[in-house]
Amino acid sequence: MARRLTGFTPSGDLHLGNYVGAIAPIVSDQTDTVAFISDLHALTLHHDPADVRRRTLEFATLLLAAGVDPDRCLFLVQSHVPEHTELHYLLECATGYGEAQRMIQFKEKSGRQQQVRMSLLTYPILMAADILLYDASEIPVGEDQTQHVELARTIAQRFNTRYGETFTIPRAVNPPVAARIMDLTNPHSKMSKSAASPAGTLRLLDEPDVLRRKVMRAVTDAGTEVAYDPTTKPGVSNLLDILAACTGDKPQDLAPRFTRYSDLKTAVSDAVIATLTPVRTRYLHLAANPAQVQAALQSGAAQARNLATTKVQQAKAALGLLPA
Ligand code: ATP
Ligand code: MG
Repeated sequence: MARRLTGFTPSGDLHLGNYVGAIAPIVSDQTDTVAFISDLHALTLHHDPADVRRRTLEFATLLLAAGVDPDRCLFLVQSHVPEHTELHYLLECATGYGEAQRMIQFKEKSGRQQQVRMSLLTYPILMAADILLYDASEIPVGEDQTQHVELARTIAQRFNTRYGETFTIPRAVNPPVAARIMDLTNPHSKMSKSAASPAGTLRLLDEPDVLRRKVMRAVTDAGTEVAYDPTTKPGVSNLLDILAACTGDKPQDLAPRFTRYSDLKTAVSDAVIATLTPVRTRYLHLAANPAQVQAALQSGAAQARNLATTKVQQAKAALGLLPA
């Protein structure tokens, strides 16, 4: 059976795109699923320690509130399982310097900063460790992460060839196109945690009236017709995608039901509020009981370590390290 793995980096606030593209698919089928908070990845760029700590707990609480069930899937915080970093080093020994340097995200992110952390260069190898540690074979990612999954695949193949069959070969699977939610103020770029676009981002913890205001102010396109065509009508199509994601309909089928942009926006606000209100309510309840969340994380880390220690021992033995 294919094991899926999805990571959430606790930098920025979780938003509707994360919910539709990553959280809802986990919740809909949690067998053979690894869902983790990639807190170590949050240290690759400038970070505030207090923010990372607060967000890690917030993300864990939100994922549980959204229906991630730690009894059915593997649910953990990356840094609670030290084998992630242990395997990271071992995999570095099977990765070329040039390979890491060629990563487009590294080039883009390092180009924007004066001081580049070494971990920004090596983070795709940590990501490979995240994947290979659990024999995950299907990694649902957007385009920006496909190259990193390809690298994990190359490293796994090389390691297996050189040192013997150790890792399952992973592949990137693209989530449905319709699940790619765009920024409400700029429908050409995706809704994202790190983009400084508060008005364009529907945060999972936004209050209902804030969600409504953001949707009502979303940019639309020239003309007045409500039609689904992401190329010529990116703003309206994004609203239809959001509505479709919330109601389970197809965006093409929804379009003819509206004659005015304002009616579409009202329907989208109602649907987003109806989708996110139960999550927010459960979040507020769970946030008042952090001990329950921490217990889930402790038990998740213990389960994960069971798998991870075996895998790391296998890799160490294959590489020629003397067993302790
Ligand atoms: P960042 O800007 O820090 O990269 P992000 O919003 O892209 O943040 P990630 O932590 O990179 O979030 O991704 C978490 C998960 O959410 C991934 O599985 C990713 O594919 C998914 N995801 C992120 N943004 C969207 C979006 N706009 N639409 C659909 N899925 C998304
Ligand atoms: Mg991202």
